[in-house]
Amino acid sequence: MSAYHPLTAEEAIQLAKSLPGRFPDQAELECREIGDGNLNLVFHVTAKHSDHSLIIKQAVPYAKVVGESWPLSLDRARIEREALEMEHSLCPALVPEVYGYSDEMAYTIMEDLSEYTIMRKGLIEGNSYPKFAEHIGEFLARTLFYTSDLGMNQQKKKELAGRFINPDLCKITEDLIFEDPYRDSPNNSYPDSIADEAEALRGDTELHFEVTLLRHKFLTQGQALLHGDLHTGSIFVRAESTKVIDPEFAFFGPMGFDIGAVIGNLLLNYAATPGWAADPKAQQLREQRLVQMSQDVWNHYERNFRQLWNADLLDEMSRTPGYQDHYVLQVLQDAAGYAGCKMIRRIVGLSHVIDIDTIADATAREAAQRKALAIGKNLVRHHRSIKSIDDVIELVKQAS
Ligand code: ADP
Ligand code: MG
Ligand code: MG
Ligand code: MG
Repeated sequence: MSAYHPLTAEEAIQLAKSLPGRFPDQAELECREIGDGNLNLVFHVTAKHSDHSLIIKQAVPYAKVVGESWPLSLDRARIEREALEMEHSLCPALVPEVYGYSDEMAYTIMEDLSEYTIMRKGLIEGNSYPKFAEHIGEFLARTLFYTSDLGMNQQKKKELAGRFINPDLCKITEDLIFEDPYRDSPNNSYPDSIADEAEALRGDTELHFEVTLLRHKFLTQGQALLHGDLHTGSIFVRAESTKVIDPEFAFFGPMGFDIGAVIGNLLLNYAATPGWAADPKAQQLREQRLVQMSQDVWNHYERNFRQLWNADLLDEMSRTPGYQDHYVLQVLQDAAGYAGCKMIRRIVGLSHVIDIDTIADATAREAAQRKALAIGKNLVRHHRSIKSIDDVIELVKQAS
């Protein structure tokens, strides 16, 4: 298999067979394509009468979300695979193992996580994941610390940054998150019932100012290697275990962008809760849990990050008294701002979340959309004056 072409299921089986040690010699393999069909093919290869299995994810050279013709570099498969390998080396329990790959064919062969549930789906079902905040806080702290100038040799970091330029996928983020929701764009999508909100967003120049600051930081601050798309659809969960997938948007950017992605998506589910839990008691419980989880994600991140700083700091100047506190507060403010941006774009922009869009009752759905926008705007507007995670939660409650 040499020149690039999309794999067939039969070719995926052959690839899986050719991988040494993954399947018993005589195993009869089956394959199903299970991707969401937007950007990539995902083949699930299993062996009959055995529990051996694996996943082959292959990039296709276009995005289907926006018609047929948004060309997208196949190099993102290499970027995703190298990010997975880096993340796995830093957090072996929290990232699937890579078994093999081809850059030319733009595929990665990896550990099968079919026993897990996608976090977004689990949250919609009302499940609680008591270990989630601890796990994701550790993932964030370790991946961000050890790929920043605090924890990585500065020349090595510069070299590594060159492997994660990722212009195509950064451009998607720049447009879809930081621009389209604030202007009249053919990419935007929202129901007529909230056209007033969308119009208000386009005219809110004070909000635009804050978004422009966050966008500028996204464009210019190569603080650490980010996952780049760390929403609850990129995280697999079970009661005792968490796994992060899909880092094809990886690039060197501001740490708060990844942390904000997690928190913003927990808060989108929070805004959607009345649409999923009819009983007021159950609703309140779920809301409390989601707020607590958002808070805990930050607290676990901060605790781990400060520990790593105190134990493993490479940069002498960063030992200057007061600098760690200053640094951590900047990251918190950024995280709140980016969480807000991510909430806003999921309501009026191109790509939505099922937490909100699949609420059956139209009135409840509209209420969730308006609540998510109110929270998102409040976070963006006030992110620069936040002093603690309690301030973030206060901004959420004010807008709820
Ligand atoms: P995309 O970049 O196209 O969003 P993802 O990596 O998010 O692709 O994968 C899409 C879907 O494929 C996931 O939601 C999940 O259902 C399935 N999938 C991806 N990776 C794995 C894996 N390692 N194990 C099991 N299922 C997976
Ligand atoms: Mg997808
Ligand atoms: Mg995905
Ligand atoms: Mg993806």
